[in-house]
Amino acid sequence: MIRLSSFVQDQWTEGTGDTAVLVNPSTEEAVAETTTGGIDMAAALAHARTIGGPALRAMTFAQRGDLLKQMANALHEHREELLTIAELNNGGTRGDAKFDVDGATGTLASYARIGEKLGDHTMLCDGPVTRLSRARFVAHHVWMPRPGAAVHINAFNFPAWGTFEKVAVSILAGMPVVTKPATATAWLAWRMSQIIIDANILPEGAYTFICGSAGDLLDHVGPHDTLAFTGSADTAGFLRTKAGFTHGSTPVNIEADSLNAAVLGPKAEPGSDLWHIAVRNIVKDMTQKTGQKCTAVRRIIVPESWTDALCEAIAEELSRIVVGNTADKSVTMGPVATANQLRDVRAGIDRLAAETSIVCGGSQPVAGVGAPDGKGFFVAPTLLRATDADSAPAVHRDEVFGPCATVIPYNGDAEEAARIVALGGGSLVSATYTDDRKWLGSFLIGAAPWNGRVLACTAKVADETLPPGMVLPNCLHGGPGRAGGGAELGGVRGLEFYMQRTAIQGDSGILAKVLDIPTE
Ligand code: NAP
Repeated sequence: MIRLSSFVQDQWTEGTGDTAVLVNPSTEEAVAETTTGGIDMAAALAHARTIGGPALRAMTFAQRGDLLKQMANALHEHREELLTIAELNNGGTRGDAKFDVDGATGTLASYARIGEKLGDHTMLCDGPVTRLSRARFVAHHVWMPRPGAAVHINAFNFPAWGTFEKVAVSILAGMPVVTKPATATAWLAWRMSQIIIDANILPEGAYTFICGSAGDLLDHVGPHDTLAFTGSADTAGFLRTKAGFTHGSTPVNIEADSLNAAVLGPKAEPGSDLWHIAVRNIVKDMTQKTGQKCTAVRRIIVPESWTDALCEAIAEELSRIVVGNTADKSVTMGPVATANQLRDVRAGIDRLAAETSIVCGGSQPVAGVGAPDGKGFFVAPTLLRATDADSAPAVHRDEVFGPCATVIPYNGDAEEAARIVALGGGSLVSATYTDDRKWLGSFLIGAAPWNGRVLACTAKVADETLPPGMVLPNCLHGGPGRAGGGAELGGVRGLEFYMQRTAIQGDSGILAKVLDIPTE
């Protein structure tokens, strides 16, 4: 069993005391252990702020972008090893592992290109200069890196992408990182961190890796530190009560639960191209990473008269899914990541099933193909069917974080579809499948403000669209309300969280000389 360690104050340290044990979710064998006992979290933050911050702020966007490029290359060289670790600790298929690992290197590479484009500057300009008098008195709104540490706390489901999508944006903005993966699946993020550190790419103090419990880390955040948290709404709610956030105004970005929707509208009738794309995307999102994606579809909203056909089409595809130990190459969906997850997903399916009917799957124990007898955290891909949107409140309230979604019939009106989407209280993404422009326009007015992203799949772009569950570095990721109210990525937009915007008023000639902003 491997002993994982933390990288704190530019030293690897194993921590002391009781360890948390990480397991292979297909076999329940222990694969690694870790602890953060004895680590001085206040000193870790101070080191990042005082050593890493100044070093990064002294660099231009182009130079920081080059660091990201080197990180992407170093990780890519170890791709096969990383995919294997992902399979062993996260339980997904090879494809699931690629989604996570390549998502991490792809996002680093994407932000490296943004750094190259932003060039030899150290600050960003928000809009054109504002004239405040008839002569020389003006204001520049500029973004400068915050002189603190960027704390990142990540969920178990994307140890690679979750870690490095945040690292990419922070480093490019000029902030040192203190990053913590979820303990249960930390092996992959630990190995990736080791590769980055061994490659000696980053300046001293720019990267701190906490492998295990956060301890009292968040009791020490200051006004110019930031917290980017990804995880459950419950944990987010608790963390928001910490004094740094309530009284210290430490910026916090929350990426939490989401009850994402797929909506079939007019002209996506059974058998049409849009219908087939909708079914393909829904099945992909339900089963990829065993449904443990914050962007996975949970609610499938369909015109009443197509409900039987849609349930049949999805159930038929799900019946081909082979659940089991991903070491067995016939397996197309692995286990959920932990014993707690398995318990929560089964209980969640039961809660939803109390208000709906089960089309296929359910909460019963599943013997995984290729897994030791009675071992592994397997769950059947599960499709449920509600009578209507209002008879199943749990469907709009409970995120079952596994391969589970519910079909909800509606009357076909755009306004009604938008109302049902909004019942989720704020989502990361909704997808529509329709070629009816009037319907789409009405739907967007009602539903877009309840989502961080909407994929409008229409016939002419059908071949080009990516599944809605895929988060792209150049599009916003986050969502309002229960999704946490956060906003990550989105190209240059993502940098703003790690920078302070200041309106600087003064003499236009002098400011043009002392501020390092791109000339208009
Ligand atoms: P979780 O239980 O809330 O844990 C998330 C992270 O918070 C872990 O790193 C955990 O560390 C840490 N944590 C827990 N208590 C803490 C505390 N008191 N102080 C500091 N850190 C603390 O969530 P999860 O089970 O890992 O992830 C699943 C959830 O994440 C799902 O609800 C999913 O929707 C959501 N998610 C959202 C997004 C998004 O982008 N919106 C992406 C992925 C997942 P330990 O592991 O050490 O306890």
